[in-house]
Amino acid sequence: MTNIDKLQFIADERARLEREGLLVRVRTIESPQGAWITVDGRHVLNLCSNNYLGFANDARLRQAAQQAIDRFGVGPAAVRSIAGTTTLHTELEAKLARFKRVEATISFQSGFNSNIATIPALVGKDDVIFSDELNHASIIDGCRLSGAPIIRYEHCNPASLEDKLKEHYPGGSARRALIITDGVFSMDGDIAPLPALVELAEKYNAMIMVDDAHGEGVLGESGRGAVDHFHMHGRVDVEIGTLSKAFGVVGGFVAGKRIIIEHLRQKGRPFLFSSALTPADVAACSAAVEILESSGALVEKLWSNARYFKKKMQDAGFDTGKSETPITPIMLGDVKVAQEFSRRLFENNVFAMAIGFPTVPIGKARIRVMISATHSEHDLDYGIEKFVAVSKELGG
Ligand SMILES: *Cc1c(COP(=O)(O)O)cnc(C)c1O
Repeated sequence: MTNIDKLQFIADERARLEREGLLVRVRTIESPQGAWITVDGRHVLNLCSNNYLGFANDARLRQAAQQAIDRFGVGPAAVRSIAGTTTLHTELEAKLARFKRVEATISFQSGFNSNIATIPALVGKDDVIFSDELNHASIIDGCRLSGAPIIRYEHCNPASLEDKLKEHYPGGSARRALIITDGVFSMDGDIAPLPALVELAEKYNAMIMVDDAHGEGVLGESGRGAVDHFHMHGRVDVEIGTLSKAFGVVGGFVAGKRIIIEHLRQKGRPFLFSSALTPADVAACSAAVEILESSGALVEKLWSNARYFKKKMQDAGFDTGKSETPITPIMLGDVKVAQEFSRRLFENNVFAMAIGFPTVPIGKARIRVMISATHSEHDLDYGIEKFVAVSKELGG
């Protein structure tokens, strides 16, 4: 026996992924983020990024990061509970709390970690979780880590949630219940029906958590998110946020009632056992929050771009699915068609990714277009023109 044999399963799995067209291939970017980027040596229109507001390469954020490095250096040196935390971190948390209109927030190293920290701190094996069937992978992993039974309800369907609550949590039979939903769903761009979900949480005395990774910077007043959009302040127990999408940097945070946030400082394992965000990240995020608090102009530009693109694509005969946000799926059906479409777009200098099973159901493959405030109308027209040209080439 050699070592090769015991790793054969990896080669087999890789061959399967390749055969089924599921192998992840990562393109290399050679420029800063923006409407146009250089990818694998080619100057392309960027329709892939979550950089909704252009903050990833904003001069004000860059300057804040540089100043933070000069003042605090590059690393946090250890986990916050052991080595202390910087004023930059506590300032960011206070700013985010004011911006989100919640009692308190706590930052984490990523949105993913924020879910992993929060869910196991709220529920355990004697409790029950009710989770939208299309929730993000990091929610699913957080749920699994908690050890609580996970009951999936139909996507964005309050009636299905109520059926499951009646069946699995009648009269509050389990110790505790937690309802979890994405605020905006990342593959379809639809918005969770929060008012109805909150009412059910109140009726059945369940906790409710919203992961607003794609809502922050996008929905609500100046991008305050889905809870603000629906005026549900104080009625959602806890929100997960990311600092890597509209905020343009990296990191995550949890926002909500002070009692929960303080509990996470005691129990959130990525807080206790993993080092904090760097000073540069935190300072850049703080600058992003300040910009949003002072002006809604970038969020308005994002929305006018999204409406412009969607309308023109629909007029050209494309199906934009259920999208209610700047996430714009161009529904193509077959995964091979979507992949070929994406490849030809790239040859036409348009960078837009095909998404197929298992990320979306079989037969619902698409190109997922991410609109940003950095795009000009001229950029969007360029993209639309290329979509139409490729569609003709492929006989669509
Ligand atoms: C992107 C995303 C995350 C992960 O955020 P990161 O900061 O990139 O780790 C978590 N939840 C949802 C719903 C997301 O869309």
